[in-house]
Amino acid sequence: MGEIIYGKEKAVKLRENIRRGIKKLSAARPPGLEIIIAGKDPASVYYAGLIQRAGDKEGISVNIKQFKKPHTGDISKYITGLNRNNTVDGILVQLPLPKNIDDERIFDLLSPQKDIDGQTPLNQGRLMTGREGIFPATAMGIIRILESNGIEISGKKVAVVGRSSTVGLPAAKMLLDRNATVTICHSKSRPLENYTKDADIVVVSAGRPELVGPEHVKEGACVIDVGTNEVNSKMVGDVAIEAVLKKAVVSPVIGGVGALTLACLFENTFEIYKNHINGIPAK
Ligand code: NAP
Repeated sequence: MGEIIYGKEKAVKLRENIRRGIKKLSAARPPGLEIIIAGKDPASVYYAGLIQRAGDKEGISVNIKQFKKPHTGDISKYITGLNRNNTVDGILVQLPLPKNIDDERIFDLLSPQKDIDGQTPLNQGRLMTGREGIFPATAMGIIRILESNGIEISGKKVAVVGRSSTVGLPAAKMLLDRNATVTICHSKSRPLENYTKDADIVVVSAGRPELVGPEHVKEGACVIDVGTNEVNSKMVGDVAIEAVLKKAVVSPVIGGVGALTLACLFENTFEIYKNHINGIPAK
């Protein structure tokens, strides 16, 4: 029987450090984080509210701007203003964007220095070429959950299910950078178990309820469930947790990567804020 590993404890520590750091700087203004929601996606609205409430606790001023009838031009204009606004340290554009929005234009425009979820071409390129930058918070959370629970990455076989720019792809690169041998799976990787069942670590971020069952994982593997799916008003992960726990260590969707994602988002915001307050020019 495997054990459950959580991200909450590490997230609490990270957030305590951020809170202390903000207090210590005792600057004239708090860190400013702006969240842009294009459309009415309930999950985006819920998540933005959650970030705002959590930000309040840490002393981060979070403003939510929702474009209920979004147009690329309006959002672009708004982002241009935020890029120039010295009280805004971080900008988060909630994904996925509606189909009518030109996401390339949005992320080409967003200042890479305020891009707290590492979605601009510059920050994505920096990650892929092994340079310093601001990187996607969920991918950072995946690494943190493994490291804080003492799961060895170097030399291990890892299967990452999902190849999005926010989770799968950056997580795969971060794991590769830590000397894992990584297989990236997607919707055409069939049958999925052919790619996952030999892996020491399986990261699942597909957004498909209980996609991964015991047949997909080997005995003693570590499985990180990133997926969040609402099924009959209940939060369900991408991993059939009860069954998979019989043979593997599992990080569940509740209390797992999510808590660390939020902490890493605040960490990215705080790092930018520190530089702004101390007058350190952005790279
Ligand atoms: P996304 O952009 O929709 O990407 C999903 C990925 O999964 C795609 O690469 C897709 O393949 C792949 N996929 C879909 N069905 C598959 C299948 N049957 N077998 C193998 N791969 C499959 O989603 P995302 O933004 O990465 O998010 C994924 C999930 O993580 C969602 O449930 C989201 O809510 C959750 N999430 C959680 C957190 C957290 O903090 N816990 C943070 C971010 C996201 P193709 O590329 O071939 O389409």
